[in-house]
Order: sequence, then C-alpha cells, then structure tokens
Amino acid sequence: MKQFIHSYRELDQAVFENCAIADWPEAKLLLWNNKLAQEIDLPEALRQQPKLQCDLLSGQTSLANSSSYALVYAGHQFGQFAGRLGDGRAHMLGEWPTSTGSLVDLQLKGSGPTPFSRGGDGFCALGPALREYLMSEALHALGVPSARSLGVVSTGATVERDGPTGGAIVCRVAQSHLRVGTFQWFAATEQHPVLAKLTHYALKRHYPEQAAGVKQQAGNSDSAAALALLDAVIDKQIQLLCHWMRIGFIHGVMNTDNCSIAGETIDFGPCAMLGSFNPSAVYSSIDRQGRYAFAQQPAMMNWNMARLAESLLPLIDTNVEAALDLARPLIEGIPARFDSAYYTMLANKFGFSDISAGQQNNPAELRSLIDTMLAAMAKHELDYTLSFRQLTKLLAGELDPKAQDQLEHYFSDSLHDWLGLHGSNLQECGERQLARQQGSEPGKEEHKHDSAVALMRANNPELIPRNYFVEQAIEQTLNQTTKTQGLNLIQDYLSAWQRPYDKQADQCELLQSKADFDQHYRTFCGT
Ligand code: AMP
Ligand code: MG
Repeated sequence: MKQFIHSYRELDQAVFENCAIADWPEAKLLLWNNKLAQEIDLPEALRQQPKLQCDLLSGQTSLANSSSYALVYAGHQFGQFAGRLGDGRAHMLGEWPTSTGSLVDLQLKGSGPTPFSRGGDGFCALGPALREYLMSEALHALGVPSARSLGVVSTGATVERDGPTGGAIVCRVAQSHLRVGTFQWFAATEQHPVLAKLTHYALKRHYPEQAAGVKQQAGNSDSAAALALLDAVIDKQIQLLCHWMRIGFIHGVMNTDNCSIAGETIDFGPCAMLGSFNPSAVYSSIDRQGRYAFAQQPAMMNWNMARLAESLLPLIDTNVEAALDLARPLIEGIPARFDSAYYTMLANKFGFSDISAGQQNNPAELRSLIDTMLAAMAKHELDYTLSFRQLTKLLAGELDPKAQDQLEHYFSDSLHDWLGLHGSNLQECGERQLARQQGSEPGKEEHKHDSAVALMRANNPELIPRNYFVEQAIEQTLNQTTKTQGLNLIQDYLSAWQRPYDKQADQCELLQSKADFDQHYRTFCGT
C-alpha cells in the first residue's frame, strides 16, 4: 500500500519540529481538486469520497504513515534579516510518492499554531485560502511552475483579522517547501553539517542529474554540491521569473523565505496580476518602497540568489575569499543569463522564435523594437494581455480596420517595423481580414504567418486571473450564507482559467481589462 514518506524529516532533527494538528470537527469541504489528486496518484477511495477528502484537508487523514510537523527556516524580509521564521501556520503531512517516482509535499496552511507561530494565531482566513487556490491553479494552467492546491475546507472557527471572519485550511502540493531561507537558517546558526546534508538532499531531490555529476567528481563533494545547487537554482529561478514577466504576475513578497529551491511559485500572499502595462506596478499594501514592483522582480531574484550563495559559502571553501572567488561568477553572471532568457521570451511573445529571428544580421534591432513597443504600452497604459491579443489577431488577419487604426495610433512606426520583420504590412493584414470576413477561401499567402501566429498564441494567454474577477469570486463566496452556494463563480472562473490559451470570443467577460478596479486595488499578506 502506498504511504507518506518523510525523507526530509529523516535528514536531521534540526530541520523540523513535531507538532499536532488541532481537531476540526466542524470542518466543511469547499474545494477539492480531483484532477490534481489523480495526477499525484492519491488512492482511488480518497478521490471518490468527500468525507475522506474533508478529513485529509482538516488534518484527520487516514492516508498511511501521515504525520504532522513544521519546518524551520529563516529569511530576509524586505531586505532585512528576520532570523528564525519557520512554518507558523502550516503543518506538513509528509511527502507523497507520485506515480513517476518523484515526491510531492502535502502541507496544510491555516491548520493551527506551531512552535514557529511567534505572535501569530496559526490560522488562515477563508478569503486568502480561496485566493491561494485560485491563483496557484490558474498559474499552473498558464504553464508557470507553481505549488498547487488540493483543496480548501472551512474550519468552522472564527478568525480575528480586521474583524471576525471565517477560518480555512488550504492544502498545498509542492515539489518541496525548501526555501532560500532554509539554507539561511543553518548558515546563520553555523550548523554546517546540517547545511551540507541539506545541500546534498536538495540537489538529489530536485536536480538529480547534477547530483549524479557531483558524485563522479573527485575532491570536496560538499563544495561541488553547493556550487552545482547554486547554479541549478539560479537557472530555475531565471525560468520562473521569465514566466512571471511573460504573463504579468506580481508576486508581491519575494522575501527569501518565499523563494523556492525547486523554482516554483510559492507562498501566495499579496500577489496580483498586471493589467495596464506599468513596469512600476505594485499592489501589495505592505510594499511601500516598491521593492517588489513588476519590473523589479528579476533584480530581486538576483538579490535572493546572492543570499543563497552567501549561505552556501561555508561549504564551498573554508577560506571565505576562496569561496567568494568560486561563487561570485555565478551571481555576477545572473543579469546576462536572465537578459538572454528574457528577450527570447519576449521575442516569442512577439512571434519570433528567438531574439535574432526576423533579421539576418542584427539581434539588437529586434531588442530595441521590443523595447519601443513595450514603452508604447506603458506610455498609453495599454492592457498587457489584451495588447498581445490584438497584435496576434492583427498578424492572423483577424483584426477589423478600426482596431488596426488604434494599434497604429498607439505603436506608430514600431507597428510597421514589427509587421515588416514578419514580412507583412498593415494593408496586407487588412486585406486578409476583409477576405476572411467575406468568407473567401484562404489562399497560400494566407498561411505564411501561421507559425508566427501559433507561437504568439502559445506564449500570450487570452485569459489571466484578473484581480477584479478573483476578488469578485471570493467576495461572492464570503457573502453567501452557506459557503458552498457561493462557490459557483469560483468554479466557473476556474474552469475558464484552466484553458487560458484558448481563443475567446471578443465578448468573453473574463477578457475585460477592469483598469478602473486595478487603479485602486490593494492586496494584503492575508495573515
Ligand atoms: P508569509 O508572509 O505568509 O510568507 O509568512 C511569513 C512568516 O510569518 C512565516 O513564518 C509564516 O509562517 C508566519 N505567519 C504568517 N501568518 C501567520 C499566522 N497567522 N500565524 C502564525 N504565523 C504566521
Ligand atoms: Mg512565506
């Protein structure tokens, strides 16, 4: 029979604290993600019986070898080292082996106090629990590496926030909950043997190829593992950040304790989606300096990686200078590595397979064209998602003349340059649109942009979990007398957000930009 395993807990006593989960006899099942249950290969009985699902999500699981413990970690919060944090309101049930042989952590958030609760109550309000479920599942569907949500229960308890509100537990499924902050804790407390074990563990669990490479190397294996891990995490974080920038995701609280070693989006607190393209967009009420503004995110990832490197220095070499000499090139190399991945991602969004495509000799030309078009989006406060939808439709010959004129107005010369790189022009796009409207058979010429259009459609979502609709769905659930009644909107929206790249009719409500709402939108940590 399949059962939970606890490989991380077995690593060392110092990495966790055992702690029981409170009884939640009033728990009610609100959301259950059966698709995910299937993906991670949870038992069939659990997938079919709501009672068992509710038990699992409220910590009364019957799954074999389930346990309950909180993980220790430290972290820099908004640039300041905060010392020991740890899971203050989360309990690990254990690691579940999926059918592919990998492990996923099942963790309950909002399940009650732990030894790491500090001043907090250990609870989670229903609104933020629903929000985490919606955002994490929407991100996953968008192709963004993300922790997932297996379900939500209301606990029946009242939680004090700005006033009394309902408590809830959300069950998170992640490749692991190892964070940059985990390494920081063992470095700050000079527990170097644990730090070494942790490094080998993380490498083996998340980067098995690199772990095998380290095994084959002669010399100091701690040092080789530390450098290999740093390099691998940097790579994963660069990919993650490119995805965030691609879809317009603003994490809101990229503290080192919220930065995953596996490179997933974790700890959904005050996150939001970018509506109008504004590089300095900030929604979090606690981010007063704009540290984690949309366009700041890559630099903050770089900063977090420097903190990871610092934590690994004692393993890299006992001589600090020698260790720095080895780690520094990896950290200093991040801007160039990110830049290359970022412009490739943007090239794809604009319909080019790489940044040197579209012109034979000069990649700088496409870069500067992309910069100019993004600057136009910012200047005219255009919706990021809808702008790419319009550009895609234009190239596909699906945009009506009025909308074409609008694009020409906003992007002026850069629109002509962009079409030129695709071997097209406005007149030709207009003619193709007209022919399409008149129902004439598409000629050979019609197909010459197919691959560019397909690339744009694959990289530019039509539907994103826009702030307005996320809040509307949550509000409706909170305001219903029976919570289950209010879940209809959440289910409806989620099923649409599950297929974000599908072509939508112009009338689709969820396409709307809701710029007025975004202007005054504020998010909270949800504690
Ligand atoms: P977060 O901002 O959610 O990533 O949380 C930062 C730290 O505060 C983590 O150590 C959390 O476990 C802890 N924390 C947040 N909210 C609570 C709460 N209501 N009770 C206890 N600990 C909390
Ligand atoms: Mg956190």
